[in-house]
Amino acid sequence: MRFASLGSGSRGNATLVEADTTLVMVDCGFSCRETERRLLQLGRTPAELSAILVTHEHGDHVRGVPLLARKYDLPVWMTRGTQRMLKDDKLPCVHHIDGHSGFSIGALQVQPFTVPHDACEPCQFAFEHGQLRLGVLTDTGRMTPHILACLQGCDALLLECNHDTGMLADGPYSDALKTRVGGSLGHLSNAQAATLLSQLDTSRLQHLVAAHLSDKNNRPALAQATLAGVLACEPDWVGVADQEEGLDWRAIA
Ligand SMILES: [Zn+2]
Ligand SMILES: [Zn+2]
Repeated sequence: MRFASLGSGSRGNATLVEADTTLVMVDCGFSCRETERRLLQLGRTPAELSAILVTHEHGDHVRGVPLLARKYDLPVWMTRGTQRMLKDDKLPCVHHIDGHSGFSIGALQVQPFTVPHDACEPCQFAFEHGQLRLGVLTDTGRMTPHILACLQGCDALLLECNHDTGMLADGPYSDALKTRVGGSLGHLSNAQAATLLSQLDTSRLQHLVAAHLSDKNNRPALAQATLAGVLACEPDWVGVADQEEGLDWRAIA
């Protein structure tokens, strides 16, 4: 199994997960043209995609979904709530996700799980291929016992580190936006991500990647240091899915 990021942050998110010849994209928050360009940089084309999985309807996750799905005739998997908010009835093929029921796409077994986030029926995903397990968590206001249960024992984790609490408090956001981002339906801080990580079985963890970093309220080095503190590893070992550069392919073996 392999994974990569086309980019992550408030200006667009898209993650690739691949096993054998199955290639899925989790979210597509970039324009269709930008998605094509970023896919090419990772050595893939949209026509190779088996499916698009959507976590929730926020623009940084769905911007390119309708056009990409239509142009390349791709099936889209999402909850009924996400589809309702997407307000697009011309998608070629929609599969509805029930936030508690697993399904398979080709060689990948997908387990969605519900998260507290200010969207309509949002979910996140754990992927399995054989004995290997990848957890993806990019948008949640807080950790829950259910999230913890779904992310135990992963071989690789893409984990939201949205903001540094101090930088958010002192930063340029309005009070309303600070309350939203830092609230229990907003985004995980570095410290919250570290607390979550500390409660996971990480004995099999080969890759840890910080994602959805705010460019105004966080720094990669802060997120890396905070997560590295939990695992007692070098900060450089913790990857970062960058807004512009994304993340190159990581193999899980
Ligand atoms: Zn969101
Ligand atoms: Zn987001």
